[in-house]
Amino acid sequence: MGGRELKYIQQAFDTNWIAPLGPNVDGFEHDITAYLREGYAAALSSGTAAIHLALILAGVQPGDEVICQSMTFSASANPIAYLQATPVFVDSEPNSWNMCPNALETAIKDRIAKGKQPKAIIPVHLYGMPADMQAINEVAARYGIPVIEDAAEALGSDISGKRCGTWGMLAALSFNGNKIITTSGGGALVGSDEAQIQKSRFLATQARDPAPHYQHSEIGYNYRMSNITAGIGRGQMEVLDARVQQRRHNFECYKNALGDMEAVTFQEEPEGCFSNRWLTALLIDPSKGGQKSREDIRIALEAFNIETRPLWKPMHLQPVFAGAPYYGGRVAEELFNDGLCLPSGSNLTEEDLHFVIDKIKNALQ
Ligand SMILES: *Cc1c(COP(=O)(O)O)cnc(C)c1O
Repeated sequence: MGGRELKYIQQAFDTNWIAPLGPNVDGFEHDITAYLREGYAAALSSGTAAIHLALILAGVQPGDEVICQSMTFSASANPIAYLQATPVFVDSEPNSWNMCPNALETAIKDRIAKGKQPKAIIPVHLYGMPADMQAINEVAARYGIPVIEDAAEALGSDISGKRCGTWGMLAALSFNGNKIITTSGGGALVGSDEAQIQKSRFLATQARDPAPHYQHSEIGYNYRMSNITAGIGRGQMEVLDARVQQRRHNFECYKNALGDMEAVTFQEEPEGCFSNRWLTALLIDPSKGGQKSREDIRIALEAFNIETRPLWKPMHLQPVFAGAPYYGGRVAEELFNDGLCLPSGSNLTEEDLHFVIDKIKNALQ
C-alpha cells in the first residue's frame, strides 16, 4: 500500500456502502479507463473471472476451440476449460517471450483445415512485456477471430504509447496480491464496446433481468468487485506510475550489474515497447560462463533466503492439459528450462538489490 487506500475505505464505511457496487466501484472503473486513455471497464472479483466473462462474450460454447499462449500462468487457460471448450496452445517468439504470430497463423490454418474455426485468441504480456500485438491482431483480423488480451501482468506497459489492455477486443486486468498494484484480490474486464462491458456487469451480478422480482433468462455469476476492495484499488491507481518506476529501477540495477555476464540474458523490450517490469526475468545459459543451470542458481540463492522462481511452465507441458493441440517449436520450453524470475518487489531497497546481485554473481562463477 502507500497511497490513500484507507481514505476510500473510510468513505465506504461512513456512507455504509459495504456492498458489491457503490461509488468506489464506479470510481475505480473510471480511474482504470482514464489511465488506459480509452474504453470501458468492469471491476470484477479476479482476472480469471475477467477472462471467463470475455470468453462468454466472444460466444465460446462447449466443444469450441480457443487459441492460447502456452507460456503463461494457468489462469489464462483455465476459463477455456470452464466452458468445456478446448485450448489450442501456441509457442512464444524469442523477442518478447510472448505468442509467436507465425505459430499463431499456422495453428489457425490447421484448425480450420481440421474443420474448426477458433473462437478466440488469448495472447499474454508476460512479466509486463508487451506481446507483438500489431502482428497478432493482423493475423486475427485475417481470419475474423476476436483477440482477448491477458494483460493481468501488464498494467502500465504500452506499445508505441498505446496501453496494454487496449489492444484486444477485450482485455483482462488483475489486481491480485502479487501484481504491480493490488486490491488484495480483484480484476477488471476492459474493452472499447460499452455494450459488451455493460453485459459483463450483468453476467457478473447473477444475470438478473430488469423486473421487480428475481427473474433470470441466462446463467449468471457472482464476479463483481466489492465497494471496499475497489476503495483499495482507487488508492492504488494513484501510485501506479510510481510502482512502474520502482519496478523498472529494479530491472536497471540487475541489468547494470549482471548484463555483462556471459551466461546471462535479460528479457528485453522489443522496439516501441515499454514494459512495467512487473518482474525482472533472465535466462541462464548452462553452456556458458561457470556452466551453472537455472536450478543451480535458484538453489544457491535459496540458501541465503532469497526467493527466485522458474518462469511459468508452458501449458502444453502441464499434466492437466496433456493432449491439447500445440503449435510451435521449443521456444517456450527452453525459456522454462533456463529462465528465472528475480526478487522484484516495489519495496526492495538498494541494499536488498545489491545483496541479491552479489549472491547471483557468486553463484554464477
Ligand atoms: C495473475 C494472472 C491471471 C489471473 O489473475 P487473478 O486476478 O489472480 O485471477 C491471469 N493471467 C496471468 C498471466 C496472470 O499473471
